[in-house]
Amino acid sequence: MRVKHVDEILKIMNNIERIRNIGIVAHVDHGKTTTSDSLLAAAGIISQRIAGEALALDYLKVEQQRGITVKSANISLYHEYQGKPYVINLVDTPGHVDFSGHVTRSLRLMDGAILVVDAVEGVMPQTETVLRQSLEERVRPILFINKVDRLIKELKYTPQQIQQRFIEIIKEVNNLIRLYADPEFREKWLLNPTSGMVIFGSARDKWGISIPMAQKKGIKFSDIIEAYKKGKDAVEEFATKVAPLHEALLDAVVKFIPNPRDAQRYRIPKIWRGDINSEVGKAMLEADPNGPLVYAISFMRVDPKIRRLVATGRIFSGTLRQGEEVWLINAKKQAKVLQVSIYMGPDREVVDEIPAGNIGAALGLEDARAGETAVAVEWKEKVSPFEQLKYVSEPVVTVA
Ligand code: GDP
Repeated sequence: MRVKHVDEILKIMNNIERIRNIGIVAHVDHGKTTTSDSLLAAAGIISQRIAGEALALDYLKVEQQRGITVKSANISLYHEYQGKPYVINLVDTPGHVDFSGHVTRSLRLMDGAILVVDAVEGVMPQTETVLRQSLEERVRPILFINKVDRLIKELKYTPQQIQQRFIEIIKEVNNLIRLYADPEFREKWLLNPTSGMVIFGSARDKWGISIPMAQKKGIKFSDIIEAYKKGKDAVEEFATKVAPLHEALLDAVVKFIPNPRDAQRYRIPKIWRGDINSEVGKAMLEADPNGPLVYAISFMRVDPKIRRLVATGRIFSGTLRQGEEVWLINAKKQAKVLQVSIYMGPDREVVDEIPAGNIGAALGLEDARAGETAVAVEWKEKVSPFEQLKYVSEPVVTVA
């Protein structure tokens, strides 16, 4: 975890080119949780306040034991790429395939997905489902071929066999991209391993590498096999000093996943049914922080520390500000944003405002359900929601 001051993170968030909104999608048991835990441990942000309150190390232990990634709607990560700082929001995605809209709600917040595939099992039915759903929402995939340690230790593959296995998996995933991506992205989004869109590694052992990284660092498959032959310490050294998983994954995220503005230009016409030539439509296409507020809420969860419902969503245009009145389109109710916060790792820190392109949390929107769209109150009745929700009687909430 990196200790950071809230202001430093906010400064990055104000530069939309330095933001990435992603999620991890996978067939069950292929390593989604292990991968996100390892990202949180290595690149998660911890605020100075929390670091000061509890010793950072103890805090980390407690959080890891609790498996916080399962509970937090979003975890923010800090990554430097070519000397520049980035904030990467890792959105929680449901662990199981479900057709009730939950997956879509997570995908709405994301512009990119790390598709995790178990190197031994390969592409499975849910791999296809989650990849298809991502592509339908114009969420761009990169691929993480996980559990490579099993090819080495259990199957005792030679470097040639390992390479052959990777080629097979990449080919299968690319066939699915050809099948499900919209025509304009079909070629562009095909996974090209030589440019670094595919990472091979082990989430459990915390190493990962792409072909360009391997070339740059002069690493061959035989070196990795050799490390496993030598034992745990050699693998750990490889993971910490030579090829850390978070570095491989987050470098690829920054390089291949678009920033929120570039993504919204082609995603809004697909995921939002309103008029893209209207003022609100144009503001969303540009992720304009000065445009009308459009806040798409994907999660309503109870924060156990404060025992209150917290909305988490993406600000597609405008700025989410404390104290402002918003209109909940589906609930047909006005509400006041009582508090606004950004994610620092899995925790939240209160701020005054959050600009378009980011993922942020709000208190005061208890009348909203997951899937709700909140807009600036002046735009009441004039904006289409991202999703139509049926409010039966009492709001239904998901309690984490
Ligand atoms: P999820 O269902 O996709 O979230 O998968 P998990 O992260 O819970 O992992 C499922 C199982 O695979 C767990 O027992 C993990 O310990 C194991 N696992 C995850 N990554 C690796 C890996 O890189 N190598 C090996 N051998 N096992 C792994």
